[in-house]
Amino acid sequence: MAAKIINGTEISKQIKEELKQEIAQLKEKYGIIPGLATILVGEDPASKVYVGQKEKVCNALGMYSERHDLPENVSEEDVLALVEKLNKDPKIHGILVQLPLPKHINATRVLYAIDAIKDVDGFHPINVGKLVIGEPTFVPCTPNGIHELLKRSGVDVEGKEVVVVGRSNIVGKPIANILLQKAKGANATVTICHTGTKDLASHTKRADILIAAIGKPKAITADMVKEGVVVIDVGVNPIGKTPEGKRILVGDVDFEAIKEKAGAITPVPGGVGPMTITMLMKNTVDAAKLQRGIQ
Ligand code: NAP
Repeated sequence: MAAKIINGTEISKQIKEELKQEIAQLKEKYGIIPGLATILVGEDPASKVYVGQKEKVCNALGMYSERHDLPENVSEEDVLALVEKLNKDPKIHGILVQLPLPKHINATRVLYAIDAIKDVDGFHPINVGKLVIGEPTFVPCTPNGIHELLKRSGVDVEGKEVVVVGRSNIVGKPIANILLQKAKGANATVTICHTGTKDLASHTKRADILIAAIGKPKAITADMVKEGVVVIDVGVNPIGKTPEGKRILVGDVDFEAIKEKAGAITPVPGGVGPMTITMLMKNTVDAAKLQRGIQ
């Protein structure tokens, strides 16, 4: 039987509707407009598109957005000074530094300079540590989005075998940390696989829930999963262009073959992708409330 398709576009629409109402209430009751500042260094076309999308969604939800586009040759000191200024700005509740940064800028130093209470990307070591000890404040947006997709699609994680392929700091490690917590909507048995894993298929075949965050087109094939598995495909891999010049994107799993075997699966595009920006907006709203002491 063909798998249920987990529609990230629809779920992210629902969350944005909820956020819109919450933002309107914050404005009406407390005079708060959640504010997000983005910092973009250089001319990377993909980064420009991402920052533009973030700005657009901010505005559509009634939030305040501020965009700082800096030249490729800006000094690290200038970037740090801007972060410091935004840390102190009461209009700004969330700060996002678009990665990657040019090589002459130490990304770790810049990310650590963001006040943890404005770190809506959840990359600051304080927020990483809080997630690991089970007291999260800001969870990185993509794994947070994956968790929300599972919850809102009625996928029960408790006691399940979850296999995460990929151990990056932005996807693999944080989603593993979310799902292994002794908490509602988690409490799974989590295995993390990577390039050092011997016999990847022996692990993926055991998965009740498989999360692929690899960055390799169709790396997970149908013979590597069991019947009824729930598959979350995080990968976004351009594999060419249509005759009209549109990019063709595929995930990290062989969607067409696996959907005949899986219980549920996220498509690419339209699965995890739309959730990431939505969760950034949610984190910014949460940051605004936190900074004003609103529950
Ligand atoms: P990354 O930093 O490159 O990490 C990839 C991980 O996959 C690494 O841990 C690597 O292992 C592991 N890996 C690579 N090849 C493997 C193989 N053959 N077998 C087992 N493990 C393997 O990537 P990322 O930033 O996590 O992103 C992963 C994918 O998700 C990319 O396609 C990216 O574009 C996409 N993504 C999408 C969103 C979204 O919003 N939808 C957000 C973030 C990322 P090692 O650690 O051993 O090298």
